[in-house]
Amino acid sequence: MKRMGRVSAAAIIGLTAGACMSAPAPSTTEPGTVSIKASRVIDGKGNVTENGRVVIRDGKIVSIDQEPNATYDLTGMTLLPGFIDVHDHVYWHFNQQGRLHGRGDGEDEVQAELSAAGEAWKTLQGGFTTVQSPGSTEDKDLRDWINAGRIPGPRILTSLQPFSNPRIQPDSLRALIRLRKSQGADFIKIFASESIRTGGAQTLSLAQLQALCGEATAQGLRTLVHAHSDASVRTAVMAGCTQIEHGIFVADSTLTFMADQGTIFDPQCGLVFHNYLDNWSHYDGIGNYNDEGKASMEKGIGLALDGFTRALATPGLTLTYGTDAVAGAHGREREDMVCLANEVHADPMRVLTMATSVNAASMNMSDQIGSIAPGMDADLVAVAGNPLDDITAVRDVRFVMKGGTVYRNDRAPGS
Ligand SMILES: [Zn+2]
Repeated sequence: MKRMGRVSAAAIIGLTAGACMSAPAPSTTEPGTVSIKASRVIDGKGNVTENGRVVIRDGKIVSIDQEPNATYDLTGMTLLPGFIDVHDHVYWHFNQQGRLHGRGDGEDEVQAELSAAGEAWKTLQGGFTTVQSPGSTEDKDLRDWINAGRIPGPRILTSLQPFSNPRIQPDSLRALIRLRKSQGADFIKIFASESIRTGGAQTLSLAQLQALCGEATAQGLRTLVHAHSDASVRTAVMAGCTQIEHGIFVADSTLTFMADQGTIFDPQCGLVFHNYLDNWSHYDGIGNYNDEGKASMEKGIGLALDGFTRALATPGLTLTYGTDAVAGAHGREREDMVCLANEVHADPMRVLTMATSVNAASMNMSDQIGSIAPGMDADLVAVAGNPLDDITAVRDVRFVMKGGTVYRNDRAPGS
C-alpha cells in the first residue's frame, strides 16, 4: 500500500496523463466534462491521492489532480473504481410469493425479467458497476438491455447456461462450447463437482474438463469451474481451466498447484452462506434446500473462513472477489469485503484491489474498468469515511457513476 501526499500524487498525474508536466490542466468547463473531488481517491491498484479530483469527459476518465473546484464535492468521502463482483447471480430473485423463482412457480417470463431488473438496480446502487454471472440463459436480455442503456444496472458478463451434465462425451462437449459462444456467452461456466449441499464430490472427469476448457480456450473464452472437493479442484487445474470457484475443501498443496499453474481462485468469505441461512424460509423445501443442505451451509461458514485464510497465505495465488450473490444478497455484495478484512484479517487495501483491478484483470478488462486512470471508463463509487481505516465504510455508498452517468448521489452537487 502506498499513501500519497502532494508530491507523489503529482508524480502519478505526470506519469499517467501521458503529457508533460507543463501542459495545462484539462478544462472542466468543456461540454461533457464533469469533475468529482473527494477526501481521498483510491485508484484500485494500491495508490491513494489525498484530496484528489477526478476529471471525466464523455464517459471516460481524463485525469486525476488535486484542484479544488469540482462539479461534485464529495469531501468526507473516499472515491474508488466501481466495484466488480466476478460471481454474482444477478438474475436470481424471489417471486411474488417470496420464494426463490424457478420454472413452474407461476411467475411468467416478463414478470421474472422485471424482477431481475430490480435485482440489477439494487446491485448497481450498492456500488457494483460490473458483475459476472455464472450463469443463466435469462441473463442475456438483461445484459443487452443494460449495456444498450435502456435500463439501469451494472455491466453484465454472462456464461448463459452452465455445463454440468456428466453423461455428455468430450466431442459433444466441444460442440456445445461452440454453440454457447454462438449464443453470445462472454465466458463458460462448468460444474465439476456437486453442490456443497450434497457433499461437493467430483462429477466431471479429466477428459470432460479437458474438452470443455480446451475448446473454450481455443474459442477465446475463459472458463469458470464450480469445484468443492479437493479432487475436483485439482482435476480442473490439470485440465487448464481459467478459474476455480468456491473450493471449500481445497488442500494447501492444491492451492500451491493453482498458484504454480496460474489458475485464478475465487473463494467466498461468508455472504453466500449467511444470506441463504438468513433467508431460509424463502428457499426451504426447494431442490436441495433441505435440512441436510442447511446443515452443510452452517458448516460452510467456518470452512470458508479457514479456506480463505489459507488462500491469502499462498504465495503467487491470484485471488478474485466473487460473492456468489443470489436472491436476497443483491445490493449487499460489499459484505464479503467486510468479512475479508474483519474476519479473515486481510489487508483492506488488498481487499479493495481484489474487488476492482484484480477482478478486471481476471476478465481481461484491465484497459476499460477496475482502476481510476486516464482513458478508463468513468465507473466510480464513493463511500462515506475511509475504508482503509474501517472497512465497514463500504456499507455506506453515497455516489455511483457508471460510464459517466450518475446513478446515485446522496449529496447534491456543490452542497
Ligand atoms: Zn454461483
